[in-house]
Amino acid sequence: MRQTNNVRLMTQALHADLQPMFEIVKQVNPGHQEFQQAVYEVMLSIAPLAGSRPEYAQWSILKRICEPERQIIFRVPWVTDDGKVEINRGYRVEFNSALGPYKGGLRFHPSVNLSIIKFLGFEQTFKNSLTGMPIGGGKGGSNFDPKGKSDAEIMRFCQSFMTELYRHIGEYTDVPAGDIGVGGREIGYLFGQYKRITNRWEAGVITGKGLTWGGAQVRTEATGYGTVYFAQEMLATRGDSFDGKRVVISGSGNVAIYAVEKAQQFGAKVIAVSDSNGYVVDEAGIDLELLKDVKERRRERLSAYVEERPSARLSVHGSIWDIPCDVALPCATQNEILGHHAKKLVENGVQLVAEGSNMPTDPEGIAIFQDAKILYAPGKASNAGGVATSALEMQQNASRDSWSFEYTDNHLRGIMRGIHDTCIETAETYGQPGDYVAGANLAGYIKVADAMVAQGVI
Ligand code: NDP
Repeated sequence: MRQTNNVRLMTQALHADLQPMFEIVKQVNPGHQEFQQAVYEVMLSIAPLAGSRPEYAQWSILKRICEPERQIIFRVPWVTDDGKVEINRGYRVEFNSALGPYKGGLRFHPSVNLSIIKFLGFEQTFKNSLTGMPIGGGKGGSNFDPKGKSDAEIMRFCQSFMTELYRHIGEYTDVPAGDIGVGGREIGYLFGQYKRITNRWEAGVITGKGLTWGGAQVRTEATGYGTVYFAQEMLATRGDSFDGKRVVISGSGNVAIYAVEKAQQFGAKVIAVSDSNGYVVDEAGIDLELLKDVKERRRERLSAYVEERPSARLSVHGSIWDIPCDVALPCATQNEILGHHAKKLVENGVQLVAEGSNMPTDPEGIAIFQDAKILYAPGKASNAGGVATSALEMQQNASRDSWSFEYTDNHLRGIMRGIHDTCIETAETYGQPGDYVAGANLAGYIKVADAMVAQGVI
C-alpha cells in the first residue's frame, strides 16, 4: 500500500461563520495539508454550534483550539553502529490541556513533519475528550526511520530523543506513548533514559510500558480490540454482528494485528492485511500466529508470511481496498482511503468502515461512505481504545495498582460502548441521526470548548 498525496480537500462548503476562520488556519499554516484537512473535517461537523453557542464565538474558542499551546522542535543527533553521526528532527506538539495533561503518542517514520504531528495532536484533543478521561491532546515524533536499524541504534536514537524531550514532559504535564514505529522496545529505551536523567521512577510519565515495570494489561491490544468493539456496536444498531463477515484490514503493525485477533474471535474471516510494500490476500483466513511471528517477533516484511503460507499471495499492484469485503478496517496511516478507493469499496458492497488509523479516509472518501449510507466511524471515535487504556495505565500507576487482563478488557469494552453511544446520541441531538462523524466531532469539541470557556483566556 502506497500513501498518495492527491487528497481532495474542501469538496463541501463550510458554514459561512466558519469559512473565515478556516482561511486564517490556511494562512498561518501554509503547506500544512494534513493539519488543514483535520481542521476542515472538524469545522464541517461543528456548524450547528455556530448559532447555538454564542459564548464560543465571544471567547474565540475555535481560533484558540486551532492553535497548539506549544510546539517544540529539536535536533536529535545519534551514532550508527559503524560510527557515523546522523541527525534527525524531533517534535512534540502540546496541543490542548483544557481537559488534562497533554496525552498522545510518538511516531517514528521518515514521513513525519510538523503538519503530520499537528494534525495528530489536533485529532487527539477531541479523541481524548470523547474517552471521558481527564487527558488533553498532544503528539510527537521524529522523521527517524526505525526500519533496518539494529537494536543498539534504536536505543541510542531513543536516548538522544529523550535527552531533549525529558524537560518538556511529566505525569502532570505531558504523557507520551507509542504510535507508528514506536512500540514496547522504544518505550522501554525512552523510559530508561527519562529515569536516568531525572533520577525519578515516574511511571506516569509515559504509557505503553512493559507489564513488569508499570505497564497495563491490554494496552498492547487496546487500539485494535477497541476498534473492533466499536465496530461491533455499530453492527448491532442494524441487528448484525461480525459473525461470518469477510474483513479486510490494512497495515500489519500493532493496531492491525490486534484488530485481526478480535475480529477472528468474533467469528469474522480476515482475508487481507498490508504493509508499505503491498498487501497479502489469504482466502483461507489470516494465520494470526504466523503474522505475529513474522511482524512482532522477527520484525520481517509480509513477504515472509507469504513464503510460509501456501494459501496466501502478495500483491504490489492495485490496492487492498479493491478486495470485495463486508467490513473494512484501515489500520495503517493517514489518507490511505482516497475517493476512488471508497467508491470501489462501496461498489463491492462494503457495509462498515471503522478507522483504526488516524484520518485514513480523505474528505471525498468520507462523503462517498456517507452518501452510500454505510456504517462509517472516524478514527477519533473508533480508535480511542488505545489512549483510553493508556489513561487506565496512568490510573493504575497513580494508585500503584495492577489490574487483571479480563478486568481491563471489560473496562475497555465499556469505554468503547460509551463512546459509541455518545456519538449516536449527540448526532441525534443535532439532527444528524446515524452520523458518527458529526456525533464524534460535536461531542469531542463541546467538552473541550466548555472547559476552555470555564478556564478563561489562556
Ligand atoms: P505500527 O508501526 O505498529 O504499524 C504501522 C503499519 O502501517 C505497518 O504495517 C506499516 O507498514 C504501515 N504503514 C505505516 N506508514 C505507512 C505509510 N506511509 N504507507 C503505507 N503503510 C504504512 O503502527 P500502529 O499500528 O501503532 O499505528 C497504525 C495507525 O494507527 C496509525 O495511523 C496510528 O496513528 C494509529 N493509532 C495507533 C494507536 C496505537 O495505540 N498504536 C492508537 C490510535 C491510533 P511498514 O511496516 O511497511 O511501514
